[in-house]
Amino acid sequence: MAPPEKRLLKGFNEVVTVDPALTSDDNPLGLIKNGAIALEGTTIAWVGPGHAIPAAWQGVPSEDFSGQVVFPGFIDSHTHPVFGGDRADEFEQRLQGKTYLDIAAAGGGIAKTVRETRVASLETLVEQTTTHLATSMAFGVTTVEAKSGYGLDVDSELKSLAAINEAAQRLPLTVIPTFMGGHDIPPEFKGNPNGYVDHLIGDMLPAIADQGIARHNDVFCEAGYFDVAQSRRILEAGMGYGLKPRIHTNEFEDIGGIPMACEVGCLSADHLLNTSPEGIRQLAASHTVATVLPGTAFYLKVPRYAPARALIDAGATVALATDFNPGSCMSQNLQLMMVLGCLHMAMLPHEAIQAVTLNAAKALGLEDDRGSVTAGKRADLALFNLTSHHQLLYHYGVNHLSRLYVAGQVVRGFCTEPATA
Ligand SMILES: [Zn+2]
Repeated sequence: MAPPEKRLLKGFNEVVTVDPALTSDDNPLGLIKNGAIALEGTTIAWVGPGHAIPAAWQGVPSEDFSGQVVFPGFIDSHTHPVFGGDRADEFEQRLQGKTYLDIAAAGGGIAKTVRETRVASLETLVEQTTTHLATSMAFGVTTVEAKSGYGLDVDSELKSLAAINEAAQRLPLTVIPTFMGGHDIPPEFKGNPNGYVDHLIGDMLPAIADQGIARHNDVFCEAGYFDVAQSRRILEAGMGYGLKPRIHTNEFEDIGGIPMACEVGCLSADHLLNTSPEGIRQLAASHTVATVLPGTAFYLKVPRYAPARALIDAGATVALATDFNPGSCMSQNLQLMMVLGCLHMAMLPHEAIQAVTLNAAKALGLEDDRGSVTAGKRADLALFNLTSHHQLLYHYGVNHLSRLYVAGQVVRGFCTEPATA
């Protein structure tokens, strides 16, 4: 059902616009107190203070939102939501002191997920992926990037991307599908990474391009996975099919992924735990967004987090995402990741909010269309029962979402608001 043509949402305690035209040193989020938003169809038509509502909007149907704060719909720019089974049993094994290598030697870890993804039916993957992404929405997410990468053969990668696309049809949020055949080297190519890269480029990419089911192409550029030359080959081959490049790099070691990512023109370089001052400078001087994933560092209990503070101070554009995946971050709670970014990466609350809105939109190349509450952009809005935006990360671990708009349409069934309201 199409949303009513013209509506006025008014009386918000705060509209957190994140609109660069409204931000200043004193008001880094472009906050409007006692704010109002006019919607026209799927689009934001006007934003401003309640006392300045234009005459043309004063007679249209309106709702009052006193006691609430509205943000741009959150954007989770890095997830791995399509996989068979889960790895719940490994949580206790890890707490008992088993290492990743112990678990992998016993048949667990990513190899288990690859096995279970390969044997899962398309319908099973669709249902599980739909459930995972619906949970993202419950935390205020209206756009999500979703990677394949647990199939690692032609049929299983096509099946994974088909599952992402079908889940996107079943949910109102926007899903950006990313091909990540370069996630790991599958068992049949162990010891022969160049053979797998040849297979990926020669067989997988043409099949995926033929079906038009991915928009981006990602690779895990790390010691023991894909080296810089292999990663570059994978990304440049994808670009030949119109797939925008992005990269996982510097999670475990610095093998030189950052300068390559900047040179190739990656939309985003993600993880970045082991980034040198030179790498920080290179990212700051590039158009590549630096995406930090504090939930993964938290869950793996690694001794260091990505240098978000230094990246921001150097002038890099920093996004923050969940890295939702079955092994190292089984949580879609983007609000919790923002808290971790503040507590463990010295981000300030306004920086964490920018990192899941406008900066995350930039990490997906969608900043012209979303990521801020700005006239002309899509009406993707996340409303919270909060007296001020300061409450969002302070009163943490609790979900205050009260209503979600996607392209001007109220999404029912995810929020505290009764489904019949
Ligand atoms: Zn990832």
